[in-house]
Amino acid sequence: MAQFPIHHKKCPYCGYKDFSKRGYFYKKSTKTYIPRFHCNHCNKNFSTRTLSPAFKQKKSFLNRTLCKLFAGGVSLREAARIVGCNYKTAYTRWVWLGTLAKDDVLSRKLRGQELEFDELLSIEHTKLKPLSVIVAVNEHYEIAGVKVAKIKAFGHLSSVSLQKYGPRPDEIKAKLPELLQEISSRNPNIQIIKSDKKLSYIKAVKKAFPKAQHLIFLADDKKEKTREQRYLNHNKRKFDPLFKINHTCAKLRDHIKRLTRRSWCTTKKSEHLELGLYLYIAKSNNFAFLK
Ligand SMILES: [Zn+2]
Repeated sequence: MAQFPIHHKKCPYCGYKDFSKRGYFYKKSTKTYIPRFHCNHCNKNFSTRTLSPAFKQKKSFLNRTLCKLFAGGVSLREAARIVGCNYKTAYTRWVWLGTLAKDDVLSRKLRGQELEFDELLSIEHTKLKPLSVIVAVNEHYEIAGVKVAKIKAFGHLSSVSLQKYGPRPDEIKAKLPELLQEISSRNPNIQIIKSDKKLSYIKAVKKAFPKAQHLIFLADDKKEKTREQRYLNHNKRKFDPLFKINHTCAKLRDHIKRLTRRSWCTTKKSEHLELGLYLYIAKSNNFAFLK
């Protein structure tokens, strides 16, 4: 039996406690020697790093900083420049950290009894390929869930989009019920749901939360145009019944670089935007998945 101070109490591969010391390996990034062990039962070698989520990463010390930058309105390339790594490292970490954050966020329970949800528009490389981000938030301003859906181009761009990129799926009808179902399984105590007026919203809410009360508010279509006018007319203290969700969406646009308006950073893969959103949600518990 091993008699030296080690972090492992048993072999990570077979679970037996019969193992002996077998040298060290040098970790270049932290300039430390890490002890290795040999299992006498399954004949495999392991170290204290084997079970770490950052196993085999050469620059694992970047993870926390990259998380903070990604959830703080910095683009992938700029983050790579700031921490001094390659763009590809930043990109693969975005995907890896986002996946870890997603698993962590979805495994946690939700609190609260109220839910507000809305859509936030973004693009997939070009405005001819729009994306819709469905965001749901509870009364404590905690993001209860996000889903990214591909939608058809609208307005005068729809015909150009069809010509250039062919038919595009409209995923919103499938993703919204999926999101609401996911939230109801994480928190069945939701009693009040607030949203804009849309037929698909009403149907999806009724299916996922049959006992909850659904409050519907008419969307303010001229929101963008009247934003400056409000200050001129001295009626800026207008009550917004969907303030929590509108405020959260505004924060998302500020804290995730690719969601910023008039930015030249865009999403290239819709699933990666979702990972970035989960990274932002994990920011509220200080990236607990990294511990
Ligand atoms: Zn073993």
